[in-house]
Amino acid sequence: MKKTAALLLLIALCFYSYVITAAPSQDPYLITDYSRLHPVKVERVVESKKEEQLIGLLEEAKVRGLTVSIAGQRHSQGGHTYYKDGIVVDMTSYNQILSFDPAAKRITVQAGATWEDIQNKINPYGLAVRTMQSQNSFTVGGSISVNAHGRDIRNGSMIKSVESFRLLTADGVVRNVSREENEELFPLVLGGFGLFGIILDVTLLLTDDELYEEKTITLGVEDYVNYFREQVMTDPDIRMHIARLSVSPESFLTEMFAKNYSIGPQTTEPLSSHNELTRREPWVVPGKLLFKANRSFD
Ligand SMILES: Cc1cc2nc3c(=O)[nH]c(=O)nc-3n(C[C@H](O)[C@H](O)[C@H](O)COP(=O)(O)OP(=O)(O)OC[C@H]3O[C@@H](n4cnc5c(N)ncnc54)[C@H](O)[C@@H]3O)c2cc1C
Repeated sequence: MKKTAALLLLIALCFYSYVITAAPSQDPYLITDYSRLHPVKVERVVESKKEEQLIGLLEEAKVRGLTVSIAGQRHSQGGHTYYKDGIVVDMTSYNQILSFDPAAKRITVQAGATWEDIQNKINPYGLAVRTMQSQNSFTVGGSISVNAHGRDIRNGSMIKSVESFRLLTADGVVRNVSREENEELFPLVLGGFGLFGIILDVTLLLTDDELYEEKTITLGVEDYVNYFREQVMTDPDIRMHIARLSVSPESFLTEMFAKNYSIGPQTTEPLSSHNELTRREPWVVPGKLLFKANRSFD
C-alpha cells in the first residue's frame, strides 16, 4: 500500500515537473539555453530580419558599450552563450533559402534556417545533408558555430560541409569567408561559438540521399576500438555509426552498444516514399516520466 502511494506520488511529481519545465519561459528577457543552467537578464532580444538592421544593431551596441550574443534555436547545453544586460540577436527568422543548385549539390541559406528547412527542399531531388546531427531542428548557424558532429563517419564534422559563408564582424563589415578568401577566419568561425561575428548566410555541400538499415550490436568496451577499426571503417556499406557506453548497473561502462546504419537488402525501396519527415518524436511524455522515475531507483 505504502509502495503504491509512494509510486503515485512520484508519478504526480514527475507530471508536475514535466509541466513546469515544458512551460514557456515566464520572462522573455531572462534568457537561457536548452539546459536552463545559467539564465541571465538581457537588455533585449532582437528578431533578425535584414542585414542592414544587424549592421545598425552592432553600431548601436558599440556606441553604448553593450555586448551582443547570437541565438539560433538555443539548443546548446552549456549555458555559455548569453551576456548579462547585453543584446541577443535571435537568428531564427533569418531563415530563407537563397539558392539551390541540385546538379552542383550546393545550397545557400540564411543562418537561421534549420536542417529541416534544408531537408524539405533537397530530399525531393535525391539529395541529403552531409553531416547530419541527431536532430534536424537546430539552425545551420548554430550548428556550424559549434562545428557539430553527426553520425556520418566519413564526412567528418560540420566544417567539411561548409564551402563558404558571409560574416558580419563587430566593426560592421561583411566579409566573404571560405578556404580561399579571408581563410584565417574559416576555422576560427566554424567552432567559434559566435565570438567572431554573426554568420549571415552559408553555402553548404550536399550529398546523395540514401536509405539505411539500422542494426545494434552489444560488445565489451575493450573490444570496441578494434571492432570500429577493423569492421566498421573497412566496410563500405556502413555509412553512419554511433556507439554508446552502457549505464545499466550490471554492465556499467563495461559494455557498449554500437549502432550501424548500412546499405543493405532492405534499402532498395524508392527514396521518395521516405521524404516525409517525422515532425514529432512519439512517446516523449511517457519516456520523460520513465526517465525521471528511473533516476530515483536502481
Ligand atoms: C537533443 C539534442 C541533441 C543534440 N545532438 C547533437 C549532435 O548529434 N551532434 C552535435 O554535435 N551536437 C548535438 N547537440 C548540440 C547542438 O548541435 C548544438 O547545441 C547546436 O549549436 C544547436 O544549434 P542551435 O541552433 O540551437 O544553436 P544555439 O544553441 O542557439 O547556438 C549555439 C552557438 O552558436 C552561436 N550562433 C548561433 N547562430 C549563430 C550565427 N548565425 N552566427 C554566429 N554564431 C551563431 C551561438 O552564439 C552559440 O554560441 C544536441 C543538442 C540537443 C539539445
